[in-house]
Amino acid sequence: MTKDVSELARRPAFPESVSRAVTTPLQPSVVYASPDPDTLDAQYEGRAFGYTYSREGHPNASVLASKIDAMEGVSGGWCTASGMAAVTATMLGLLRQGDHIIGGDQLYGRSLRMLTQDLPRYGITATLADPTDAAAIEAAITPATKLILVEVVSNPTLRVADMEGIAAIAKKHGLILVVDNTFTTPRAFKAFDHGADVVIHSVTKLMAGHSDAMLGYVAAKDRDHAEAISTTIITLGLTPSPYDCWMAERGLMSFNLRYDRAEENAAALAEHIAGLPGLDAVLYPGRADHPDHNRAGDLLRGRFGNMVSFRLKGGRDQANALTRAMPEMNFAPTLGDIGTTVSHAASSSHRGLTPEGRAALGITEGFFRVSVGVEEIELLKAEFERGFAVL
Ligand SMILES: *Cc1c(COP(=O)(O)O)cnc(C)c1O
Repeated sequence: MTKDVSELARRPAFPESVSRAVTTPLQPSVVYASPDPDTLDAQYEGRAFGYTYSREGHPNASVLASKIDAMEGVSGGWCTASGMAAVTATMLGLLRQGDHIIGGDQLYGRSLRMLTQDLPRYGITATLADPTDAAAIEAAITPATKLILVEVVSNPTLRVADMEGIAAIAKKHGLILVVDNTFTTPRAFKAFDHGADVVIHSVTKLMAGHSDAMLGYVAAKDRDHAEAISTTIITLGLTPSPYDCWMAERGLMSFNLRYDRAEENAAALAEHIAGLPGLDAVLYPGRADHPDHNRAGDLLRGRFGNMVSFRLKGGRDQANALTRAMPEMNFAPTLGDIGTTVSHAASSSHRGLTPEGRAALGITEGFFRVSVGVEEIELLKAEFERGFAVL
């Protein structure tokens, strides 16, 4: 005999326990039951705190956001379904038809696409300018300019933006300064202390750190900005899944350890690669030969990060040979994984550019970006030696 419907739908409470779990529970519930309409009114009017429907917020997103808030030195941040969801919520929440924005000319590829192809369809125009040159940013300002979007360290050439100069310009002209802090993370750069009004993260990368959760984060200093962004997240359905938040919270537990180890490895690997045959140039802000070495020292307080780029003397043939000779290194277009990943800009992030456009950025067919992980440094050195040996 089958149980009746009410029996199947019953959800018994967890057994009472005098001891408590040491981990954050995963709460996949989409809806929350309130005791009565008066309580629901109080929830919506902010007189009582309670979840309603998970697109409007859920406990795992709250827990994760408050952890990242603490790292960034802010309150009221929101988690989103991806880093791009955070960029989307910021742009669509803060801008309207007729507005103009300025973006760094080496932003993350999808952000560039949004600024140059998608936002214009909604009547929002963008000018790209070099963020290592604050005067170039200022020269791009028009009477309609409302916002500046920059990344502190550019991908994949690892140039360091003149954040102090840009923050001063944003303040002088009353513009909203939005900083995508994905590469630098609050371990290296506390953007709100350097004039940012809004901070964005792709939590997918270093913060979650294991390539198994896709998430973003956005926080704004100004209450009205925060409200506009969070309303956009809820309306456009940019909310993250509880499971991804739960996974990312677990990843964050080891974030400082992973970051420090990966950074130490990156410095050592950059030094090692610099001495290998077949190399044209190695780019790492921690090296004295990096064009922004001094700025990176001041701005990032010597936290030069886990990203190393290099250019081979040869072209695509040599690029293919190198990746094939390093099977232990995941050749994958991402960054921030616990293990080292190698990416090739010309065939991935920068494939949309013409060869001339890439050349202008110094990106040849022999250009690679390495997101250095936490492996034993001797193993990493040996693997790259094996790769370079076939060139
Ligand atoms: C990956 C990345 C994004 C986009 O994040 P997703 O989580 O992939 O949507 C935005 N900005 C930077 C700098 C990134 O590296």
